[in-house]
Amino acid sequence: MTENTYSKLVPEPTPDSMPYWNGLNEEKLLLQECARCWRVRHYPRPVCDACHSFETRWVEASGQGTIHSWTITHHPFHDGYRSDLPYTLVTVDLEEGVRMLARLHAPVDTRLDIGMPVRLVVERAKPGLTLPGFVLAAPATDMSAPSSGER
Ligand SMILES: [Zn+2]
Repeated sequence: MTENTYSKLVPEPTPDSMPYWNGLNEEKLLLQECARCWRVRHYPRPVCDACHSFETRWVEASGQGTIHSWTITHHPFHDGYRSDLPYTLVTVDLEEGVRMLARLHAPVDTRLDIGMPVRLVVERAKPGLTLPGFVLAAPATDMSAPSSGER
């Protein structure tokens, strides 16, 4: 798949979120941490929810978490996702104490439960764009998504 044929929505990184996207390109999940009160936050944003500080540093997350909730998508909200249907989106409670939404790379008929352990995988969507996803935690192998496209 080339950049010209990629038909899905793409993020538009901001100065606040650029380190997050750059981290994924390096197969790292980076989370913002307040440099004043050390609270971790996600999604990337300029101000700490707890102390309102603008001071931020980036920390690498473990990529481990548990399922908080999930939904199975049957309707394409954008034509670029039509061929993927149906697929599962999970909200994950990361070990670092924040929640994150991403695709679950598992058959949609997989039995899921709240609290089930998952781990991060990355999918090279197109050159310069790496997307996060999750798989059910199993013996760790690598961070590559099982159904990803070009690498
Ligand atoms: Zn803070």
